[in-house]
Amino acid sequence: MEMEKLVSLCKRRGFLFQSSEIYGGLNGFWDYGPLGVELKRNVKDAWWRDMVTAHDDFAIPLGAPEAYEMTGLDCSIIMHPQVWKVSGHYDLFHDFMVDCTESKKRYRHDQVRGRWVEAKGKRVFVATSAEAESEQADLQQKALKFFNLRGKDADSLAWEGPVVSLATVQDFSQVVGPDAKGPGTLTPPREFNLMFKTIVGALGTEEDAAFLRPETAQGIFVNFKNVLDSTRVRVPFGIAQVGKSFRNEITPRNFTFRSREFEQMEIEFFCHPSQSPQWYQYWRDRRFRWYTELGLAGERLRLREHHADELSHYSCGTADIEYAFPFLPPGEFGELEGIAHRGDFDLRSHMEGKLVREDDQLAVEKGPDGKPRRRGSGKDLSYRDDISNERYIPHVIEPSAGADRGTLAFLCEAYHEDQAPDDKGDLQTRVVMKFHPRLAPIKAAVFPLVKKDGMPELALEIYRGLKPHMTAFYDEKGAVGRRYRRQDEAGTPFCITVDGQSLQDKTVTVRHRDTLEQWRVKADDVVDEIRRRLA
Ligand code: ATP
Repeated sequence: MEMEKLVSLCKRRGFLFQSSEIYGGLNGFWDYGPLGVELKRNVKDAWWRDMVTAHDDFAIPLGAPEAYEMTGLDCSIIMHPQVWKVSGHYDLFHDFMVDCTESKKRYRHDQVRGRWVEAKGKRVFVATSAEAESEQADLQQKALKFFNLRGKDADSLAWEGPVVSLATVQDFSQVVGPDAKGPGTLTPPREFNLMFKTIVGALGTEEDAAFLRPETAQGIFVNFKNVLDSTRVRVPFGIAQVGKSFRNEITPRNFTFRSREFEQMEIEFFCHPSQSPQWYQYWRDRRFRWYTELGLAGERLRLREHHADELSHYSCGTADIEYAFPFLPPGEFGELEGIAHRGDFDLRSHMEGKLVREDDQLAVEKGPDGKPRRRGSGKDLSYRDDISNERYIPHVIEPSAGADRGTLAFLCEAYHEDQAPDDKGDLQTRVVMKFHPRLAPIKAAVFPLVKKDGMPELALEIYRGLKPHMTAFYDEKGAVGRRYRRQDEAGTPFCITVDGQSLQDKTVTVRHRDTLEQWRVKADDVVDEIRRRLA
């Protein structure tokens, strides 16, 4: 599937719009349209229901070491600035960027890609920031221009090695930047903090600076004690949160995949340190299964365990659930969710202060005066088991998913083109979004075949019967074939049509989106029939 087709369908049918589009848009920000809001809400609801509300606190789920409890939180986006100092985001949450002194553009260091090329006795690294599909074409054009060659002379370009990241290049003096005419205009990489800064209150001094949260997780850690004190949860248990996060990404791109404002669905799961490896395995497999159950299966979805040298010092395991998005080069995958074993790092940091590694041990970071540089809350965030009386800081397993990346993967997976007969019986290309029924924005559409003879009245009666149970849509405009097509593009699993026969025997046809099968059902039984098939 070509990405342009999906992007154009998303706009045409109201899944996604560029934010502030009438003012030319704002890079890295997106709005969900009437169909998109339902789709994304269904993704978040499915997650919340499957992880939290429908979770049975007393049963042992498949693969889990024992039964566990789940609960939820909804924390503020702006938190005490000390949270981010202690969590490490204030000092460490940055990407490297490079600036171009000629074009005045800024790029993320690891995202600029290019290739070494030689011609006329000169060797340069031509760089591009183009999307994967047009990368080589863009590089060729740049190289031809730089060497002052014409298209027909492309053979005289001697390419060296594959397209690689600018991060592999040490010396930029031979690099022709993505928007530069000649080499040597890129500055050395510099750190850039990804947190959005804002001012709280009317005084507007630097002391009032605060940050929009770059992840939802910290709200859970700082409320750990509140949850323990206000509920009867016992370790092992999980706290879930869904909400907006903000990162000032240097180069937002690939549709909603890398946005500056996005939504996360995160769980912090607290367990006894001795059991944490088993819980890590459990959550890794449980979360992978969740995507497959909702229709992301096969070669496009994979679980990738990080290598030991990729792990943070406190972690004994991290895995990413990844999807082969169509905008990535063949064979490359993009992260949908990370599942990390975080040890006691977060709770301990919020107790004691920002932790750093010292001689293979975690220790509170000290300033030149020997005092802790980033102080924690000083509150006791340990847990006492009321049966064994043991007191310890629980270990944490963190499944951290992106609601927008998940939604985008479900959109990509759903897109299909096939052949189906039109109103005249001729085969036409049909675009159909094959969403899992739980995720489909509209579950059923109801049409009167024609706008007369009492058909609209019966169709509206059916529509009203469906409405309390599901998102249903009524449409009486245009040829019925076109109405089916519109619902196929919206991904509506069932279309119900009231026709001439309906007025005589009170039956209607139900059409299935994927199989195109049609069958008759009594009008009075439609609600039960659709509900049964959606279950
Ligand atoms: P990446 O390496 O792609 O920037 P990350 O490893 O920094 O992602 P995490 O900090 O682990 O991401 O965040 C957890 C999840 O939040 C990611 O798996 C992703 O689904 C989502 N996410 C993170 N950054 C963005 C973004 N800029 N736009 C959309 N979703 C994001």
